Amino acid sequence: MYIVFEGIDGAGKSSQIQLLKEWLEENGLEVELLVEPTDSKVGKLIRELLTYDNATTEDMQKTLGLLFAADRMLIMDKLNDENKIIISDRSFISSLAYQEPKDWINEINKYAKKPDLVLLLDLDVATSVKRCDGEDSFENEEFLNKVKENYLDVIKEFNYEIIDANNGINKVSSDIKKAVASYVGI
Ligand code: C5P
Repeated sequence: MYIVFEGIDGAGKSSQIQLLKEWLEENGLEVELLVEPTDSKVGKLIRELLTYDNATTEDMQKTLGLLFAADRMLIMDKLNDENKIIISDRSFISSLAYQEPKDWINEINKYAKKPDLVLLLDLDVATSVKRCDGEDSFENEEFLNKVKENYLDVIKEFNYEIIDANNGINKVSSDIKKAVASYVGI
């Protein structure tokens, strides 16, 4: 089972992933966590490039798209492990939401593993900007609104749940558990 968390920054993906992992393990399930970009050399290069001022130019978007796809290839075996519940902080769906052009991103991710369930942590853009002040210079309100719009469009192709991430941590966590329970047989 491959469950992915998606959403704009500040939505609390990493804390919620930890809480979900603990709950699944309490219920006797084996869980492995993954994060994109990974801590591979490719992942580190991606994180560096994201801080550059030209991160949104078309050439750099394509370059980032290719690097994200390459970084993802490095964890392909892990994503295909059917004996565990794999929970990933981001997936190729992030590429479809953040990078352009769409047909091109789809093409280079043709072999990417498709998630069994997408949990979209939906946060107001203004709150995201406030929480992540100055982290990535290109992540202004206009850009994040577009990313949110892309997410809503792209996730329709998958099993997905939209979780209101504007709520407090406990409410968000219980909404996530409710959404996941039937998928994992709890
Ligand atoms: O989830 P995290 O904040 O660690 O992701 C780092 C950044 O990478 C995000 O802020 C997002 O802007 C960017 N990103 C991206 N394209 C992806 C995945 C992440 O631009 N495919």
